[in-house]
Amino acid sequence: MLVFKFGGASVKDGNAVKNVAKILGLFSDKDKVVVISAMGKTTNLLEEMVAALKDMNYPKFDFLKNQCYDFHLTILDELFAEKTHKVYLELEAIFEKLSEKKEDFFSENYGFEYDQIVSLGEVISTLIVDAYLRELGDLSVWIDARKLLRSDDNYRESNIDWSKTEELIATNVKPLFQKSKTLITQGFIAHTREGFTTTLGREGSDYTAGIFAYCLNAESVTIWKDVPGMLNADPKWFDDTIKLDKISFKEAIELAYYGATVIHPKTIKPLQNMNIPLYVKSFVDPNAEGTVIQESAAFDHLVPSFIFKMKQVLFSITPRDFSFIAEENLSRIFDSLSQVGAKINLMQNSALSFSFCLDQEKVDIQEIISLFTIEYEIRYNENLELVTIRHYNEETVNRVIENKEIVVEQKTRQTIRILMKDALIS
Ligand code: ASP
Ligand code: MG
Repeated sequence: MLVFKFGGASVKDGNAVKNVAKILGLFSDKDKVVVISAMGKTTNLLEEMVAALKDMNYPKFDFLKNQCYDFHLTILDELFAEKTHKVYLELEAIFEKLSEKKEDFFSENYGFEYDQIVSLGEVISTLIVDAYLRELGDLSVWIDARKLLRSDDNYRESNIDWSKTEELIATNVKPLFQKSKTLITQGFIAHTREGFTTTLGREGSDYTAGIFAYCLNAESVTIWKDVPGMLNADPKWFDDTIKLDKISFKEAIELAYYGATVIHPKTIKPLQNMNIPLYVKSFVDPNAEGTVIQESAAFDHLVPSFIFKMKQVLFSITPRDFSFIAEENLSRIFDSLSQVGAKINLMQNSALSFSFCLDQEKVDIQEIISLFTIEYEIRYNENLELVTIRHYNEETVNRVIENKEIVVEQKTRQTIRILMKDALIS
């Protein structure tokens, strides 16, 4: 039994959906659960719709809703010759329901409202792909992840109830393979004990694939992407990237921790527990090797990986009473930062100062200052770049620090992290 995951880019238009069907055809003799995300940028559009509803900006809501409807309608037209196919009615019904949201009471629980609406992107995309596969004669079965994945009610970032989910998937999904080899389901969404829809956090469809694989003890998971596999750097910052052929689960978790964005970080752990390999492959070139993430760490050191975080701001705070930076004020500092939801990318301390680095675009600098200004003197430095190199050597370090001035450097045996800024060229 295989688990496949297709993200938004792999179903962004009619041709993309046709390509998904082609890939599934390569595995026609295998049982598979196929996890699919919302098409293209649908999730962003739905997020904007929720915001418009909250603001009671109904003209904007209608505008976005029509845009979203037309986008999906175009895809249907590209896939189906017969405009009377029942999937057209299904699409219409979903958008009609969405329209009724204007009359509904928008509760104070924004996360709840968000999840009821944003989850529809995945529902729509899977209905379309399933209908298309059936049209081709592959008798796929559409299954509703909102009835199979049980979570708590931490809306927008819900946590899986593993034992309940295992039970639900074992009893309801396994028997379906007697009907069909291809089960189509939604990434990203789950349900609470009361039956309300939840989402698992943005980009959470990978995690759904990991959950199904764990619960069904799958042979492997494949994430189909528009890149040839996991690369050793983001091609946005590097022109000569190298594909990682084989890395360990542990290495994949390390890379995700430092900011590599290829796979949702929560995906790896359930797979590691069951020793289920995870393939990252290209949906453009499905026969190419891709990357495999598995138990053995023997290959981890072969290729150095670079993770860049641009636009960083470094704060340094010094107690006004000249007390040392020690356990007591550290726990106070962390407490304050976690209360405002700040995510520290790097930190360091000396006797009298504590420094921490945050994403400039995700923080309100004045808010951070106001947290500490009574007891601490604060300085900050903007527009820095943080690079992490796994399995570094002198050459790789020299490559990234060229024309840069180093602000902070931290090293362990496997990892170097350098916070730097553009050097003033005289
Ligand atoms: N559609 C969701 C998102 O865009 C989940 C996913 O794509 O993984 O965040
Ligand atoms: Mg997506």
